[in-house]
Amino acid sequence: SKVLVTGANGYIGQWIVRRLLEGGYLVRVAVRSADKGDALVKLFAKKLSDKEQNIEVSLVEDITVEHAYDNAVQGVSAIIHTASPLTYLVDDPKDVIDPAVKGTLGLLQSAAEHGKDVKRIVVTSSIKAVLSDKPKIYTEEDWNDVAAPEIETKGKDARKDYIYDASKTFAEKAAWKFYEENKSKVSWDLTTIQPGWVYGPTNDDPESPMKLPGTMLLFWHQFFVVRDPAHVMPPAMNYVDVRDVADMHVQALEIDKAGGERFICTSQWCTWQDWLNTARDLNLLPALDKGDPAKYPAPSSQRICSNEKAKKILGTKFRSFSETLKDILEQFRPRGWLT
Ligand code: NDP
Repeated sequence: SKVLVTGANGYIGQWIVRRLLEGGYLVRVAVRSADKGDALVKLFAKKLSDKEQNIEVSLVEDITVEHAYDNAVQGVSAIIHTASPLTYLVDDPKDVIDPAVKGTLGLLQSAAEHGKDVKRIVVTSSIKAVLSDKPKIYTEEDWNDVAAPEIETKGKDARKDYIYDASKTFAEKAAWKFYEENKSKVSWDLTTIQPGWVYGPTNDDPESPMKLPGTMLLFWHQFFVVRDPAHVMPPAMNYVDVRDVADMHVQALEIDKAGGERFICTSQWCTWQDWLNTARDLNLLPALDKGDPAKYPAPSSQRICSNEKAKKILGTKFRSFSETLKDILEQFRPRGWLT
């Protein structure tokens, strides 16, 4: 059967396309420009040459325009929606929130009107739509209740680091609302996935670290340039390997019981000191300084995501960060990026 993947040329999107092709699906990739579509087709012609004929491109130039996805949804049996701006470098909340919310709602509207074969829609949300500021173990029952009100009340004067988080919260809430209001009329059900900080090798072959996708660029910068958690990243994170994120999206399509559910997608909670210790213990980076635990402290406020539901219902297996780190270094080393 055929699956539509939006944001297919993105970091996570490419891994999802790859897992679908490997699993025998036909894949329609939605991208913003013909160039991006060509690059994707070429990439998979090289990576999975026997699957080249199983991928087709649908151009959707502006996802904020109504009916943008009307053609893309026709004739597919499922949709995975990953397209959304991933950035904290933004001034005006609208620049991120509009594509996140209008893109998601527009897609659901198109699927409701033109996707008569669609059985399931999986939307990539984020743990940013789950975590608030209280230290505790978070589950799928939780919703971020700090970022959205900040944007709603303060608009352009809101904290900039809440804009992306609010965009994911608004988009996911809008998706559930649309589904609740239309579920008796549509052929499909809805599943949402909340990945943590996503790391791991990329599918394409960036020519320099500066061309790495968002979270991997942060990782490279944090690990190999700055090595000081205070600078770029939160000192600790709920991390997940990009390949596990892709696997979970495919499981969410295939497993009947996933319909109508949210699934947190995180492997484990860890600090930068944990990554450094792992690199040292595995002798992956002998030159790496030890890291000073006083400088790389475990934060006292621990906001930890539970991945129990995904393990139980979807059967997702999560890689450990030593596996992820090994594979990242294997990709970086031959390119001379480990200095
Ligand atoms: P990338 O930046 O690599 O990919 C984002 C994808 O979305 C690209 O295909 C991009 O297309 C598309 N996109 C972005 N903005 C727009 C827009 N305004 N209109 C149309 N398409 C757009 O990021 P990821 O692959 O990491 O992220 C994919 C999804 O996963 C997003 O929904 C993100 O919020 C979510 N996520 C990511 C996490 C992470 O740590 N990486 C964690 C949790 C959730 P183009 O190339 O044309 O810009």
